[in-house]
Amino acid sequence: MGQEYAGVSFALAQQRSACLKEIRYELVFHLPDSKSVPVEGEEKLFFQLDKARLAGHPLLLDFKGRAVDAVAVNGSTIPAVIVNEHISLPAALLSEGANVVNVSFESADAALNRNNDFLYTLLVPDRARTVFPCFDQPDCKAVFTLRLTMPAGWKALANGIQADAAGGRISFRPSDRISTYLFSFAAGKFSDTSRTIDGRTMHLLYRETDEARLRFSIDSIFRIEGQALRFLEDYTGIAYPFQKFDFVAIPDFQFGGMEHPGAIQYKASTLFLDSGATREQLISRSNLLAHETAHMWFGDLVTMTWFNDVWMKEVFANFMADKISNLTLPDNNYDLKFLTDHYPAAYSVDRSAGAHPIRQTLDNLNEAGSLYGNIIYHKAPIVMRQLEALMGEEPFRSGVRDYLKKYAGGNATWPDLIHALQPHTKLDLTAWNEVWVNGAGRPKFSYEMKVKDGKIADFIVRQVGEDGSKRVWPQRFKVALYIAGGPVEIEVNSNAPMVHVPAAVGLKEPGFFIFNSDGGGYGVFPLYNDLMMAYGWDAIRNSASGKTPLMRAANYINLYGNMLDGNGFRPREMLLYCRARLHEPDELALNIVLEQLQSIFWRFQSKAGRDSTAGDLEDVLLTSIRYFVKAPNNKKLLFRAYTNIATTRAAMDTLYAVWHDRHPPAGVVLTEDDYTNLAAALAVRDYPDSKGILVEQLSRISNSDRRQRLLFLMPSLSNNEAERDSFFLSLKKPEVRRREASVVTALGYLHHPLRAESAKKYLQPSLDWLEDIQRTGDVFFPQSWLQASFGWCRTPAEAQIVRDFLTAHPDYNPLLKAKLLQAADLLFRAEKLNRDSPVN
Ligand SMILES: [Zn+2]
Repeated sequence: MGQEYAGVSFALAQQRSACLKEIRYELVFHLPDSKSVPVEGEEKLFFQLDKARLAGHPLLLDFKGRAVDAVAVNGSTIPAVIVNEHISLPAALLSEGANVVNVSFESADAALNRNNDFLYTLLVPDRARTVFPCFDQPDCKAVFTLRLTMPAGWKALANGIQADAAGGRISFRPSDRISTYLFSFAAGKFSDTSRTIDGRTMHLLYRETDEARLRFSIDSIFRIEGQALRFLEDYTGIAYPFQKFDFVAIPDFQFGGMEHPGAIQYKASTLFLDSGATREQLISRSNLLAHETAHMWFGDLVTMTWFNDVWMKEVFANFMADKISNLTLPDNNYDLKFLTDHYPAAYSVDRSAGAHPIRQTLDNLNEAGSLYGNIIYHKAPIVMRQLEALMGEEPFRSGVRDYLKKYAGGNATWPDLIHALQPHTKLDLTAWNEVWVNGAGRPKFSYEMKVKDGKIADFIVRQVGEDGSKRVWPQRFKVALYIAGGPVEIEVNSNAPMVHVPAAVGLKEPGFFIFNSDGGGYGVFPLYNDLMMAYGWDAIRNSASGKTPLMRAANYINLYGNMLDGNGFRPREMLLYCRARLHEPDELALNIVLEQLQSIFWRFQSKAGRDSTAGDLEDVLLTSIRYFVKAPNNKKLLFRAYTNIATTRAAMDTLYAVWHDRHPPAGVVLTEDDYTNLAAALAVRDYPDSKGILVEQLSRISNSDRRQRLLFLMPSLSNNEAERDSFFLSLKKPEVRRREASVVTALGYLHHPLRAESAKKYLQPSLDWLEDIQRTGDVFFPQSWLQASFGWCRTPAEAQIVRDFLTAHPDYNPLLKAKLLQAADLLFRAEKLNRDSPVN
């Protein structure tokens, strides 16, 4: 193996996993008081080597830290040099069997996430090598023994159980055998608490200081963790496989969470809620806790062999999380939650020119970050649920258990799972796999209904690829036929380009229908266009009278998807339709309506269009909150939508009064974060003395992490364009971009539709920096960077910037190009729809 390439190529990974065994790291890190002093470390690396497989080539150890100071291989010193992110261990000094390598080094800062009085490592997918020298690939699992020296008063959490701590030194017992991307520690000024559930004591480290949030949250967090663990042990038939279960809540964390065994990290703002939490927030919290906990089996115990299969651990984590949240939130409607959680997000990518298959190839681990996105987090669970439905719950679970048992403690690929599942079903999984997992895109459905003497004589459902391809996505879904007022749901088994639906034959001709009424199907479904035309607004209002929230939500999603394709409603009509649905009683369904309303308000209307609709929408929203809608959470969602679209001076004055007096409309509960968002909303609207409002808001916040966050955001909210410009330019530096979650929020303010004119000049540099952003940032960052920059754009000139960039870079990194096309999808659609319907 040469070392002409940086990173870990697939070939290098295969060579190393074939010749290395029993890898063990003994690591010491010195964490200084000041974050400007580098973190230094010492490592003893032990492994068993099958030397013949090296064929005389050196063994490459990955390291992308700040510096390497000394290296010794089996006691012999070698030059301390890094070439292409590797330390080369000469074959002549390596032994068959046991070897030991000693290295002293300085870590790079980025993946240490250093703050003033705490830090945490986040090493997925390939950043372990930025912190210490290692064989950084998921199938070189190892045992880690860790010791930290750190400032007095700090606490720490790691994969292993704490052995002893004294005088700023803390050591941990050997960890379980885990992949390098799962190695982690967090250290700093934290509070801690613990609970014992089912005989297991679990610890939580946190920095939250708000008493109300802590009171409202801590017991729930532990309770959900307990329920999740119980469910997973039962589902998998495998007892919790690691030595301990502890977790830490990180302020402004860049992901939702990360599944390090024994040291799970969570985004603090998702965990710590107060009594103003909406059902959506409670679901997000439960899902997040369950998701990371499910990873203990799916990902940590059985790990993908190579990162191209990273989606496998994510799909199972989400899939299990959905099942677990069904238990932790008793009022939860599983199907509805599944629909609203996954379908809009999956469609947003799968309908774009940047759509990609669930399973992608990966030549070098340094591109692994680009694999993450809505397809693996949202389409994959849909596909998995379809598979479970096709196989049956019990056979599916048996196959999953076989798979976990066979590969426990090791690594496996997606084909390994397919092989484990196949004996449990008659379904041809290879064919199923080809279209759902190895293919991108969605089917488009159409129908034909033959009626004779007022009764259905034949009902035919067809599917083709949205791209016109003749593929078939085998799936089942329902159609609700409205006959004499009530819906009759019939099932369609769409497993061929054209199927007859015998269950419909003989039924009375329906007044209208809702395709995919159970939300089980995936694709673009037909509308009752003719009926809409014939019955006008009555039909429009009635059409939403889907009997169940699930039916209505599926219908909203389908109407909006069709609108984006130029079918059915035009944007203005869809806006009016959403306006007519503000009394939707179900919170999750209402959330879909409001997101669509806001999307159309900003993306599919010109300024003149906004001005002509804003006053009326503001009034209707406020009236609904004050007089018509009773459920507190629905009121809150409506108030958020009101805040989002408020553009008249009267509405801004209302927002100001609510913020100033801390007196929301009756029944709406606002949290500190809500007031911060209100202050930001006023600032972005150039409300008089917006600077003073932000300063006052800052003074209302006592938690130091949240104060830091608002201080960071303030220049992006400034009414002074030059100040915003210089803030944007500062983001060119990777160290300024390191607070990724806050950067994304700030970009959202910079690119707010009301500021689109002044933000246009940021678009080109945002693209020019993209490769650097991918190189230096965490896995979700390129995508969220693009989304925050282009996601709310709507004009031809902005679309042209994207097209020109792609033309000027014909050989652009295909994974990043796909991300750009995904982020620009609604921009392209807005450009087209606004041209076709200039009335908007
Ligand atoms: Zn995950």
